Amino acid sequence: MASLDGQIQHLLASPPALLQRERYAKLTAGMGLEVRLDAGGGKGKGVFATKGFGGGALLFREPPLAFMQHTANRPQAWVCARCFCFIGSVEQQVARLIMTVREGAESGSEDASASSSSDSGSGGGGGGHSMHREAAAALREEQLEGLAAGALKLPHTEAVPLPTPARCPGGCLEEWYCSDSCAEAAWQLYHQLLCVGPEEDDQQDESGSSSNPGKAPAAAAAETGETQQEERRRQLALREFLEHADETNDVFRLAANAVAQVLVAAQQQLGSQQQHRNGSGSGDGSSGSSSGGEPGRDACWQALLAGWQPFAAGHKGLWWECTAAPPEAAADMRQLAEDSLELLVAALPPHLPRRFPALLSLPIWGSIIGMFELNNLGVFVASPLQRWLHHLDALPAGEQAAAFQAAGPFVDALPDELPGCEGNAFYALHSCFNHSCDPNAEAFKRDEDEDGGAVILALRDIQAGEEVTLSYIDEEAPLEERRQQLADYGFRCACDKCQAEELAEALQLE
Ligand SMILES: [Zn+2]
Ligand SMILES: [Zn+2]
Ligand SMILES: [Zn+2]
Repeated sequence: MASLDGQIQHLLASPPALLQRERYAKLTAGMGLEVRLDAGGGKGKGVFATKGFGGGALLFREPPLAFMQHTANRPQAWVCARCFCFIGSVEQQVARLIMTVREGAESGSEDASASSSSDSGSGGGGGGHSMHREAAAALREEQLEGLAAGALKLPHTEAVPLPTPARCPGGCLEEWYCSDSCAEAAWQLYHQLLCVGPEEDDQQDESGSSSNPGKAPAAAAAETGETQQEERRRQLALREFLEHADETNDVFRLAANAVAQVLVAAQQQLGSQQQHRNGSGSGDGSSGSSSGGEPGRDACWQALLAGWQPFAAGHKGLWWECTAAPPEAAADMRQLAEDSLELLVAALPPHLPRRFPALLSLPIWGSIIGMFELNNLGVFVASPLQRWLHHLDALPAGEQAAAFQAAGPFVDALPDELPGCEGNAFYALHSCFNHSCDPNAEAFKRDEDEDGGAVILALRDIQAGEEVTLSYIDEEAPLEERRQQLADYGFRCACDKCQAEELAEALQLE
């Protein structure tokens, strides 16, 4: 049984090669790909083709291990918090977007979202051109409310049906889903620990539970007999954590998602151990100590190791050390991470930090953030409004005129560039690919890829035995710029293209 420090070191260390190979073999089964732990050239692991792929071929699709929508993007794109597909209706999406255009106009800012430090880059789609703003301002409040409430219909929206939004089982308004099964899956996976609960107004309605469907007291709370008051305190603390993330670095949200997944899995592991020992099937699978008192330290550690497994082989490096940040900036980043962790711990049921202290230590929190900063994939899901507009454009002239008669004032108020859903996600297999400035594969969303999965396509023919590479940066940028960008990923590229250009540079200097 390791000390706390020993546990932290163990979590930071690479898992044994045998375990990693097993895990990667499962991840790549049937794909014609394999993960080699040593890709050569000091690059660590890499992904190799075990069969030939033609240019343009789909290599694989992979659901994210952890994911989040950028805070700035939330008002613009209403999506399922679990699979990132758009939800509601075209009317509701139009109403949301026009609201952000109006708000952008009012605040005089180009960016529709006032407070965000997200790196989504192409955000601000709600601001837009002054023509759109004028058109948006010309709409009456009731018209937008009518759209949002479903009372006002736009023409031909039945051509782009979207799933009816499903509420979070905990009653919060933060997360909506495309289906009850997505809502339930998110709850079981992580959201039971990250749900802020119903809004304040709903909450004060003590008498009736009407506004709070389902199982508001989190599973974890039921287990420890947590009082409603205590739960409420945690939910407020959780809001503080989320606000801090939104104001500083929304990757903290992504990291919290991962931590919650590990904690839930570890709790389940404890529960099944307990059940095993009691020899009874009475537990509900999420309880760790309901009958046998507090589980021992060793049991907790073993359970944590099991829960940590999906993230165990990720990149290991402290966030503030693995980027090219100068020392003062690194100190600030460390402080930010420390503040964020403190807020998160305060928002968890107290038995979790007590049972799994190593997971909630600064080195582990810092390495999870580092893992995500270095290995996350920007997720983009195109707006369904694009499809709707295309549908209108393709109508016969007469029908089209009628459609635009009704829809025109709203269409005019939409920004030229319709913002899609933008977020960050971390993928188990995607994160194993090495970079090349002349990659043979790319992450690319096809029209049919309307969710948050990673889709990897071959850029050219790939032979069996060849390493499959992606570009982490704009590979068309000049050598020096690429070097700088890759320094943020903590390495110097030695791909063929870089070597050739370095050689040319050296020859020129002579
Ligand atoms: Zn969904
Ligand atoms: Zn919730
Ligand atoms: Zn390169």
